[in-house]
Amino acid sequence: LASREAHTETSVIRAGSLEVGGKPIGVIAGPCSVESEEQIVATAKAVKAAGATALRGGAFKPRTSPYSFQGMKEDGLKLLATARDETGLAIVTEVVSPEDVDLVAGYAEVLQIGARNMQNYRLLEACGRADAAVLLKRGPSATMEELLLAAEYILDGGNSRVMLCERGIRTFESHTRFTLPLASIPYLQQKTHLPVVIDPSHGTGHTYMVSALAKGAIAAGADGVIVEVHPDPEHAKSDGYQTLSCDAFTTMMAECRRIADAV
Ligand code: PEP
Ligand code: MN
Repeated sequence: LASREAHTETSVIRAGSLEVGGKPIGVIAGPCSVESEEQIVATAKAVKAAGATALRGGAFKPRTSPYSFQGMKEDGLKLLATARDETGLAIVTEVVSPEDVDLVAGYAEVLQIGARNMQNYRLLEACGRADAAVLLKRGPSATMEELLLAAEYILDGGNSRVMLCERGIRTFESHTRFTLPLASIPYLQQKTHLPVVIDPSHGTGHTYMVSALAKGAIAAGADGVIVEVHPDPEHAKSDGYQTLSCDAFTTMMAECRRIADAV
């Protein structure tokens, strides 16, 4: 179902204010984690003013350490809904277990399936039955073939609104948190009609690299980007070291627009 042969035109995925798969590209921005009403509403307003078309923010966080901040759970979802009411931005947020899919879909336009859960097949099936679009992130050690087969679970479940996200893979190289292969963009665009979103935040793990890789992704033809933005990255409860301030995001967006116009 994901194959280009099944569907020669790129699918345009619509979810509230977000459109991914056509022009202009979709821009999803916001903090790694929802932390407070003040934080999420301020970020939503700033990223909207800069040109973002959807708000991201994790409420259920899959953390490497059980001692790290695990997210605000349903309270975080409620704050995301408040931010949507204030700005009109569609909400993109992660769901980590099949039992929570209906709860999260009650608050969000887009269910994010995180890299660590790309091959959680019961979660993929539950998202296949959900009334929400899905952003499926590539597992850090998954092949393209495995990513496409994971997408197939969601499509086969009856949900056609699937976006694929390259967020970097594990390699021997350690100067970046992950290695972000921009070759995934032309490769996936040749193999599948599903739109391709690039995550330069997790893909690099360093704030100073994010803008360069976002611009590279757009130049390479990405259908969208997802970027971590926080009003005070130094005090973010997760992923602050790869997060842009609202001002840095605004600058990045101005540069991205010039590249998008040229592609
Ligand atoms: C996130 O988007 O904050 C996240 C946890 O991403 P990933 O699943 O790609 O690590
Ligand atoms: Mn993050």
